[in-house]
Amino acid sequence: MHEMECSLLRPPKTSATVEADMERTVSAWHHRAPKHHYGQGMSERHNAVDQATLAVTAGRPPRTPDAPLNTPIVAASTFVAGGDIEYAREGGPTIAAFESLVAQLESVDLNTSAHAVAFSSGMGAADAVLDLVPIGGRVIAPTTAYTGVAARLRELRDRGAIELDLVDICDTASVLSAIDQPAALLWLESPTNPLLEQADLETVLGAARTRGLRSIVDNTFATPILQRPLNSGADVVMHSATKALSGHSDLLMGALVTGDADLAESLRGRRTLLGATPSAFDAYLATRGIRTLPLRMERGQQTAALLAERLAAEPSISRVRHFGTMLTIEFGQDAQRADRVCNATRIWVHATSLGGVESSLERRRRWPLEAAHVPEDLVRLSVGIEAPEDLWRDLCSALQAD
Ligand code: PLP
Repeated sequence: MHEMECSLLRPPKTSATVEADMERTVSAWHHRAPKHHYGQGMSERHNAVDQATLAVTAGRPPRTPDAPLNTPIVAASTFVAGGDIEYAREGGPTIAAFESLVAQLESVDLNTSAHAVAFSSGMGAADAVLDLVPIGGRVIAPTTAYTGVAARLRELRDRGAIELDLVDICDTASVLSAIDQPAALLWLESPTNPLLEQADLETVLGAARTRGLRSIVDNTFATPILQRPLNSGADVVMHSATKALSGHSDLLMGALVTGDADLAESLRGRRTLLGATPSAFDAYLATRGIRTLPLRMERGQQTAALLAERLAAEPSISRVRHFGTMLTIEFGQDAQRADRVCNATRIWVHATSLGGVESSLERRRRWPLEAAHVPEDLVRLSVGIEAPEDLWRDLCSALQAD
C-alpha cells in the first residue's frame, strides 16, 4: 500500500532520474547560485534593512524551488574540477554562507560591499594579517592586546620578523605620534581583552588612512552589533568568531572583513597557503549562531548594565569595568578571594573564553601568559542570556559565602 501511494505521487526512479534528482539538488545551492554565494565571501547587498533582519536573511541560498533555507554542511575535501573551489582549503559553500553573513553585518551602513574571509580560529585570522607585513615592517599595537595576539607579536619581534611599537590605545595623542613614523600595520583591539580599554577609532583610523597606513581592528568584544570599524576607516575588521558571533561555546573560528577586494584576495591566499580554513560543520554552526546575535547582544547588554550598577555598590568590590556584555571586577588586590568567588558560583561557569549563551567568569591572571598590567585580582565576566535576577543572586551568594 505504502509502495502504491508513493508510486502514485512520483514516477518510479530509474538510475537516470536518480541522477537528474541529484543534479537538481546540487544545482539548487551550487551551480545556480551566484558565484559569491560559495566562492568569494563577498556580501550580496540587501536593500537597506536593519541589522536584525540581515542577521536572519543574509548568507542563505537563492530562493529557487526546493532550495534548502540553510546552506547545507557540504562535507567535501575536493570538488569536481572546473569550478571556483576545487579543494576545500580554498573554501566551500558552507563557509561562503558564513562569510557573506559576517560581511553584510559589518558593512550594513557602508555604501559599498565588503568581503569576509573565514578562518579556523581567531588566531588563524590574526596570523593571516600579520603574514602580510613585510619582513622588518613596523607594527603599532596596543600594550594591552589579547594575550594570544600579544604573545604572537612578541614572538615575531623576537625573531626579527617585525619591529614592534606598543602604545596605550586610550592615549590618542601617543597613537597619533606613533602613526607619524613610517609603519606597516596599525593593530587595534577596542575594547581590549580583558581591560575593556577603548581607542578613539574615528581619530586614529582616520589618521592612519590619511598616511596610507594599513589598519586592523579586533572587533571581537563589540561585535558588529555595537561597533562597525569599517565605517571609521579600518582596512580590516577581525573577529574571534569563537566568541559572541557564534555564541554557543561549541566551535573555534575567526573572520576578517575588508572593503578592499584585492586585500580580501590576499588574505584568502594566506588562508589557503597557511591552511587555517574552518570546517564546513563549524561554519554551519557559526552561521546558525549569528542568526540570534542581535537578540543575544541585546539581552546580555541589559543584564550586564544591571549587574555593573549593583556590583559598583558592593563594598567588597574595588573596581567595576563594563562594556556591552562584558564586565570586570576587582577584589581590592585579593586574588585568592577572586579565585574563591569564581569557584563558588553555581550558574556562572568558571571557564575561560566568553560570548556564549551561558554566563562565565574567570580570574585572568591565572594564565601565565596574561599581561602583568592586568591586576592579579581582576575577574572577567561574560554575561549570557539567563534570567538577570538568577545571575545576580548567584553572584551575591558566591560573594557572601566568602
Ligand atoms: N581576539 C580576542 C579579543 C580574543 O578574546 C581572542 C580569544 O580569546 C582571540 C582574538 C583569539 O581567538 P581564538 O581563540 O578564536 O583563536
